[in-house]
Amino acid sequence: MEIKVISFDLDGTLVDHSFADAVWHEGMAELYAQKQAIPLHEARERIIRSYSEMGDEALQWYDLGYWFLRFQLPGSPHELLQRYRDRVRMFGDVRDVLERLRGRYRLVLFSNACRDFMQVELEETGLDQYFERTISSVSDFKRVKDPQAYLKLSGLLKIPPREILHIGDHKKFDFSNPSTVGINSILINRDGKRPEGIKDLKKLLEVLEG
Ligand SMILES: [Mg+2]
Repeated sequence: MEIKVISFDLDGTLVDHSFADAVWHEGMAELYAQKQAIPLHEARERIIRSYSEMGDEALQWYDLGYWFLRFQLPGSPHELLQRYRDRVRMFGDVRDVLERLRGRYRLVLFSNACRDFMQVELEETGLDQYFERTISSVSDFKRVKDPQAYLKLSGLLKIPPREILHIGDHKKFDFSNPSTVGINSILINRDGKRPEGIKDLKKLLEVLEG
């Protein structure tokens, strides 16, 4: 492998799901319960059902503004994101591994999260400093991380696919799709529930050195 660029997914790879869950499940459910005057648990079930009916292949799935309009919620996405920003949690191995990789590789962040969402996570963790670029596929490319999005990434970085290594926790968006266009990819499986992939970023160092 002649890797020049390492591309990282964000949610589930560098930060855990606490913040996303707080915003999408907790905060949105509260607002929806308020709006509809229904119990919180019922609100939660309904919004989660709506999310899964939409599915994560659709751009709107990632767009808080869309859901605010659709459910006619009070307040704004911005307020909601600010309210839960202290829930952002970075995985323990991230800083150390990025410190060791920077200087040796070009590092980029490539996420399906919307820009406003990603921005809060970057500010809270200070991860910004490690990346030459941070790219929100849905905000910047107007598409989920499909094979075309990975080709765009390669074009944007002016580097051929075979010199890029992408790492992330979603089998399709972070593993199959980049592989389709010749980008090296590694699946990370933080909770260890699935047998495939590596279980933490320390293993990434081993893969690169080995
Ligand atoms: Mg992810």
